[in-house]
Amino acid sequence: MADQLIFAFDLSFEGTFAKGELRVEDGKLCCAVDGVPQYALPVSSLTGLRVTGDVGCGYLEAAVDGKPKILARMTTGRLRAAGEFQLALQYYIDTGELSAVADDTPRVCPTCGRPYPENSTTCMYCVKTGAVFLRAVRMMRPQMKPFLAGCALVTLSNLLYSLTPKLNQLLIDGELASGSGTVRTVLLLCGAMLLVRSVGETLYIFAARFINRAGSAFAAGLRHDAYDKVQRLSMANLQRKTSGDLLKRITQDTQTVREFLIDQGRFFLEMVVVFVVVGTILFLQNWKLALLVIVPAPVALYIMTVIWDRINLRYEKQWRLFSKSNSILHDIISGIRVVKAFGSEEREIAKFAAVNRELAEVSASNERMWARLFPMITFFVGIGEFFVLYFGGKMILGRELTTGELVEFTMYIGYIYEPMRWMTGLPRYLADVLTSLLKIFEILDETPEVLPAERALKPEIRGAIAFDHVTFGYKTYEPVLRDVSLDIRPGEMIGLVGPSGTGKSTLINLVMRLYDVTRGRVTIDGVDLRDIAGETLHENIGVVFQENFLFAGTIYDNLAYARPEASPDEIIAAAKIANAHEFITKLPDAYNTQVGENGYTLSGGERQRIAIARAILRDPPILILDEATSSLDVETEAQIQEALGRLIHGRTTIAIAHRLATLRGADRLVVLEGGRIAECGSHAELMRHPDGVYRRLVLAQLQTQSVKKE
Ligand code: ADP
Repeated sequence: MADQLIFAFDLSFEGTFAKGELRVEDGKLCCAVDGVPQYALPVSSLTGLRVTGDVGCGYLEAAVDGKPKILARMTTGRLRAAGEFQLALQYYIDTGELSAVADDTPRVCPTCGRPYPENSTTCMYCVKTGAVFLRAVRMMRPQMKPFLAGCALVTLSNLLYSLTPKLNQLLIDGELASGSGTVRTVLLLCGAMLLVRSVGETLYIFAARFINRAGSAFAAGLRHDAYDKVQRLSMANLQRKTSGDLLKRITQDTQTVREFLIDQGRFFLEMVVVFVVVGTILFLQNWKLALLVIVPAPVALYIMTVIWDRINLRYEKQWRLFSKSNSILHDIISGIRVVKAFGSEEREIAKFAAVNRELAEVSASNERMWARLFPMITFFVGIGEFFVLYFGGKMILGRELTTGELVEFTMYIGYIYEPMRWMTGLPRYLADVLTSLLKIFEILDETPEVLPAERALKPEIRGAIAFDHVTFGYKTYEPVLRDVSLDIRPGEMIGLVGPSGTGKSTLINLVMRLYDVTRGRVTIDGVDLRDIAGETLHENIGVVFQENFLFAGTIYDNLAYARPEASPDEIIAAAKIANAHEFITKLPDAYNTQVGENGYTLSGGERQRIAIARAILRDPPILILDEATSSLDVETEAQIQEALGRLIHGRTTIAIAHRLATLRGADRLVVLEGGRIAECGSHAELMRHPDGVYRRLVLAQLQTQSVKKE
């Protein structure tokens, strides 16, 4: 439950762009615009809350002690959020309870008040870059040894290379220019250069091995942690994310981190060492010329710090567009049957093309900006070289310097410019990897809304289920179930009926603890669900849905999914009880037939029998059937009913069925209407109520059937 209720709006009362905030605090609604308090009204004085739209803007209005008042003004983009806030505020006025505002409301950064980017909980303006990298470095601790070993080898190999200019100078000044050289010493010096090169390259091969190993292991660790977290998040958390977004974070972002470490990270140590060592050599050789080399660098550094923030924002935007295009792609590929059925391929192609185009434009614009900036920065970094040549040339003419010394000096400049140039290119890669790290950390930091059981009890479950004054809404201020109380005895079969949208599936979602109740409690054998260990709860509940998902793999694997340690005999026995054995043995590879994506397509009825067999294998005391027999032909339904009959026997069962006739075997029917239990009793009892909801539903169905028959 939220402990604050805030709405960020974006227009002042005069209609200019502003940062406004409405906040509920201690029974008062407080308003501030650009940090200046506007009013604080007791919520009890507010009536008739409403949101109205106008041309290009909208208002949140209310009557305050009977007089109309505009509470906030916003652009049309914030209207929906205003509506959500209005509902939450109304809920607070009615019940005195604060509730979270709808999750699709862009939440705002507590530091700067700007809304977070879409699908994100990080404000790119306020993010502490250093802390993010530090966290990554800390997480990399297990791979630090091989990584640093690799970096050290890279450094060593480059230090060896840096001997080459010295050997060059010895060759030119000592042997060639002086005229005292011999072929033997020239050969010796050339041989030394060759040796330096080959040892350097060999070290590099080992370095690459270490660094690749460390980078890949770190990325694999991140991928594992992110995937692990996604598995542990609750439905409410996952519902807010698209599969494409999650896939991008788990696969591509971790890959970006790996590539950064392997392509860029390995240079860190080397560049620092080269910079210090070669810098010292330069200063020792000729401090005046060395100063000329270093002086322009601060200008480049200044430009880099100025552009850093902008680059960050740009790369984050690019990331979001990429994620959006991923989500669309994922959505369309999963729903390709519907697309084909509606013949809407062209529309989908256009939709994807539009996002793709925008992504291409943003990426191109980012690269363009970089392409303009990079030469400018490298120009400033490298400009010292020209001064060196000019002043060095003058020194040679004045006999203060030999030609060999100048050649050596300029070769060293080449070495020192390398780390400087690398640093100038770094912001772009850093911005890219920073975005990816942030997106991975967002997942790792997310708190599951259904928290693991605090007491984690593992009771022996008999199957008594009780709803004790349960109120629940997916958004707390819009209850779907209201004050529902129901006691289900062990072994009892309950049929849940009621018009669609009244909360039947919601009720069973609560039994499975996919969500936690807002108020009241759900218990099994008297123990609050929130105190039962997750594994215990799920081991004791079997489910058969209308649509049963099969994973890619064999039928056998899919059956064994329910109980991986089950023996083949047990699996076949369960398939027989579920009336599935017969059709499975007729398949091309029987139990080894591949199903799921790319596999053999089973019919809905066949999938359902696999699900029933899974439930039988689990042998749970509690069973949930959600529309398990709808949309089946009569013969299949009879087979499934028979299988279900065997499954239900002796278990507490909650069944939802659209076709009321299928619930005749229920011990009690619970009729939900408007989120409350309207009626409860056996079929015969409920039919006796002349104006009963159940009776009405049954009669309506009979009428439809007779019309169909006619
Ligand atoms: P039934 O099973 O009786 O048809 P549901 O329990 O599925 O009804 O839905 C009850 C209400 O809750 C509906 O108004 C539905 O729109 C809403 N609802 C269902 N699932 C979700 C969800 N995951 N997020 C938000 N609202 C939901």
